[in-house]
Amino acid sequence: MPEDNVDLFVIGAGSGGVRAARIAAGHGARVMVAEEYRVGGTCVIRGCVPKKLLVYASRFADEFEDAAGYGWTVPKPSFDWATLIANKDREIDRLELAYVGALERAGVRIVRSRAVLEDPHTVFLEATGERIRARHILVATGAAPHLGPPIMGIEHVISSNQAFHLEALPNRVLVQGGGYIAVEFAAIFNGLGAEVTLVYRGENILRGFDEDLRAHLRTEMEKRGIRIITGQTVTGVDEARGSFRARLSDGGEVEVDKVMFATGRHPNVDGFGLKAAGVRLSHNGGIEVDAYSKTSVPHIYAVGDVTNRINLTPVAIREGHAFADTVFGNKPTRVDHADVPTAVFSEPEVGTIGLTQTQACASLAKVDIYKTTFRPLKATLAGRDTRVLMKLVVDGTTSRVVGCHIVGADAGEMVQLVGIAMKMKATKADFDAVMAVHPTASEELVTLREKAASYQRQAAE
Ligand SMILES: Cc1cc2nc3c(=O)[nH]c(=O)nc-3n(C[C@H](O)[C@H](O)[C@H](O)COP(=O)(O)OP(=O)(O)OC[C@H]3O[C@@H](n4cnc5c(N)ncnc54)[C@H](O)[C@@H]3O)c2cc1C
Repeated sequence: MPEDNVDLFVIGAGSGGVRAARIAAGHGARVMVAEEYRVGGTCVIRGCVPKKLLVYASRFADEFEDAAGYGWTVPKPSFDWATLIANKDREIDRLELAYVGALERAGVRIVRSRAVLEDPHTVFLEATGERIRARHILVATGAAPHLGPPIMGIEHVISSNQAFHLEALPNRVLVQGGGYIAVEFAAIFNGLGAEVTLVYRGENILRGFDEDLRAHLRTEMEKRGIRIITGQTVTGVDEARGSFRARLSDGGEVEVDKVMFATGRHPNVDGFGLKAAGVRLSHNGGIEVDAYSKTSVPHIYAVGDVTNRINLTPVAIREGHAFADTVFGNKPTRVDHADVPTAVFSEPEVGTIGLTQTQACASLAKVDIYKTTFRPLKATLAGRDTRVLMKLVVDGTTSRVVGCHIVGADAGEMVQLVGIAMKMKATKADFDAVMAVHPTASEELVTLREKAASYQRQAAE
């Protein structure tokens, strides 16, 4: 029996893999991590971080416009895409180095290579030709954009990966998709001055989110000039004199300078020997794991997007940390996947946590809804036509707040804190007991007096 070279081999240096490697090394394990692209993974290199930087850039347009109502005279602002992308790239390079430094300081060996499992304990590194025997293996390979069924002209279509590196800001963009990445990029391009068409096959954007939130955000996005076409798909893309003509399923056409698909992401499970190692996949296309992120092979674990549980960076990080504590820290730890707060960095922003009204009505005997929409104070002098939505979903039997849905400036920041209250099982009365901070938007969350609706489940016949 050959000796193990490492206690832990991590495949993929993204959010989950980096955290797991560092914590395991801190517990005394000999750790090696392979990364085929860039250390930091999707979130740092081509996800959350660069996206939020583009979101910040896109929001200045409103600030310049709104300043006039507050007495400022602002010369016509101009925007330079190349400067934004170069500055963003510099920051991403800095962050990648910081991740490399943190891993190296923890004693983790990083190999810049694609890793392939040859058998349940052997990892082959394509770039160096090395074979590594590992006592434990963590698969943290993330997910990749999935452009959907092949259509004519798919080669002209970009995904979010390429959107971060466009040479110029397109004047007219079509974004296909209705999830948070589609909605965010539609808002980014719109804020930067492009004409944006969003095409989605479902009946409304942000499937799975609260219905009021979906309707409110759609209205707000349309007010900002984003054209939203639902119930349709792009069936083909033709190139025509430097621009593109996207054909829609109803026979219509949209002429644009760029076509981006944000039609979903698929877990990275192919082509690196999972089958050879005996790792089972689940019905949702991700790696099947138990509550401790253990796969069907007892010494192989998987965390993050490759497991297709909740595909968010903080979740991948928690799963990676819990894995390292469980296997190397002698502290079995499960991740609590309930009530995960999350944001959509659209314009206006979305913050959401817990049950939607529909989910609450399907699972609880009694549900009370509290909600309000209002014009934010800042919009008054600015003369901006926008409204905030705030909604609490309350369990009518226990009075616990089981859902909170916000559309408006800083919604992501607000819902992070609402998350603490909800994790502590706060009731509506607890919310009401808190003194308002005035004048803020979030004060509405503690001053919602009137029930907007109340639902009671009929007893089964
Ligand atoms: C555009 C966009 C915006 C997003 N915005 C947010 C947000 O605002 N908030 C949020 O919480 N989440 C956001 N996400 C999701 C977030 O990025 C992911 O949930 C998170 O990165 C998952 O971490 P992970 O460790 O599972 O995988 P990843 O971070 O994807 O890391 C996996 C790594 O494995 C590497 N790899 C794959 N196969 C191999 C192999 N065989 N050998 C070696 N290396 C391999 C990949 O190159 C990659 O670096 C966003 C995602 C995208 C695409």
